[in-house]
Amino acid sequence: MEAARRTPSRRGPNERIGDWQEVYLKWDESDARKQASRCMDCGVPFCNSGCPLGNLIPDFNDFVYHGNWEEAIESLHATNNFPEFTGRICPAPCEASCTLSVNSDPVTIEMIEKQIVEHGWNEGWIKPESASNKTDKKIAVIGSGPAGLAAAQQLARVGHTVTVYERNEYIGGLLALGIPEFKLEKEVIERRLKQMRVEGVKFSVNTDVGVDITHEDLLEKFDAICLSGGSTVPRDLPVEGRDLNGVHYAMEFLTQQNRKLKGQEFSQEETIDVRSKNVVIIGGGDTGADCLGTSHRQGAANIIQMEIMPRPSETRIEENPWPQWPTIFRTSSAHEEGGDRDYNVLTKRFVGDDDGNLKRLECTRVEWVKDEETGRFNMNEIAGSEFNIEAEAVFLAMGFLHPQHEGLLDALGVDYDARGNVAANGSLQTNLEKVFACGDMQRGQSLVVHAIASGRRAARQIDIFLTGESRLPTVSGYARPPIMVGSGKND
Ligand SMILES: Cc1cc2nc3c(=O)[nH]c(=O)nc-3n(C[C@H](O)[C@H](O)[C@H](O)COP(=O)(O)OP(=O)(O)OC[C@H]3O[C@@H](n4cnc5c(N)ncnc54)[C@H](O)[C@@H]3O)c2cc1C
Ligand code: SF4
Repeated sequence: MEAARRTPSRRGPNERIGDWQEVYLKWDESDARKQASRCMDCGVPFCNSGCPLGNLIPDFNDFVYHGNWEEAIESLHATNNFPEFTGRICPAPCEASCTLSVNSDPVTIEMIEKQIVEHGWNEGWIKPESASNKTDKKIAVIGSGPAGLAAAQQLARVGHTVTVYERNEYIGGLLALGIPEFKLEKEVIERRLKQMRVEGVKFSVNTDVGVDITHEDLLEKFDAICLSGGSTVPRDLPVEGRDLNGVHYAMEFLTQQNRKLKGQEFSQEETIDVRSKNVVIIGGGDTGADCLGTSHRQGAANIIQMEIMPRPSETRIEENPWPQWPTIFRTSSAHEEGGDRDYNVLTKRFVGDDDGNLKRLECTRVEWVKDEETGRFNMNEIAGSEFNIEAEAVFLAMGFLHPQHEGLLDALGVDYDARGNVAANGSLQTNLEKVFACGDMQRGQSLVVHAIASGRRAARQIDIFLTGESRLPTVSGYARPPIMVGSGKND
């Protein structure tokens, strides 16, 4: 009742598009304590179940309010291995379900989380937690995204020997190569990896499992395998002109930019540089927004982000009440920096010049009409609404279909669910006894917070599989259970 919601200030758009550093300015301790004081310590804290990790939000808010930062970091780490990632890039479903948001602005939970963990690092309180006893069990974790890293850290902390395999040259999965620096500076990942190395986790980069190590070797050398390879097959737009120079998947653009910032160089033919170009981003989600922010920083002349779906409403609709995640119109930091957004647009074809370079998109407007019988919305093209957009670069940011099947997964012979993700039972165990799956590879394209939750769950189940019991915690806030294919029990 005494303090209004305030988030840390963002650097001005003109300043920040001149560099790649994070957008938010730092808070001081008193700002965080004031914001934490807004938490009402509700009898039933909906924020806690809104968080897929089951973070103990009212507890850490209270610790912060009273200035007990050491207790706050302990409380945060009880449920979350990497609050420095979620405190920066989580969309914060907890805030959508905060009781205050019924009729006011929610507590700034995500920013308080970031403040606690940064305070912990600055004070030197975050130290390796090495296991006191080693077991003789060996576990291979395939993929070093947030799911694999969470699983690896949990398993190493109960004494197992863990090797994380990563086919890229950097550890971190999409945190390292997909998500831009201006959302997550990569030093933040390195700091945590140092802790994990001291805890005994081994990392093997440039190792494509299924190619550099066969699945037979894997099954023979390890007591359990944790598949956490992410959802990597992007949705394509196979219309005429798709092969023209200048039409790229979003991930080609984003990963190359992250590699450039690590000091890598690319030939002129390989380089994707949008300086002074007209850019169209197809796909209205987060990946598209990351392409937008990256295009601003590369100096694009003009940028349009297009979406085939209608523009979401400004506020919750009746069918989408609190404490559900609100599907509303959102403005990210990249949108603040410029560019236009357009909705209900279908791209019909890409048109190039005689040298095969993209010149324009031919598009048409669509409408979505509800079928009263099925309740589903069908798309109709609007006759006479065709229009062209001049562009020299297009990024396809329409999501990911499922993990890559060819190679390791097909060779192992894992079952897939109806969407093509690795099927697993309630214990995240696949149809193969010692093979478990977690993160986007099992759940489908999702969020960092879900990946960490899923990795923690998989670790506990692998520990139970190997030793018959586990002192690793259950994950209470796992919002959407995995698809059940066997008789495994949910924990
Ligand atoms: C551009 C972009 C922006 C995003 N922004 C956000 C955001 O702001 N907030 C948010 O919460 N979520 C965001 N997400 C989603 C989030 O990044 C993912 O949900 C999360 O990273 C999934 O974690 P994961 O560990 O399951 O897989 P990933 O992070 O995809 O990691 C999987 C790793 O496995 C490796 N791998 C795969 N197969 C093999 C193999 N055979 N051998 C060795 N290694 C292998 C891959 O190279 C990869 O590094 C974003 C996603 C994208 C694409
Ligand atoms: S991890 Fe995400 S959902 Fe959970 S408390 Fe932090 S910001 Fe909220």
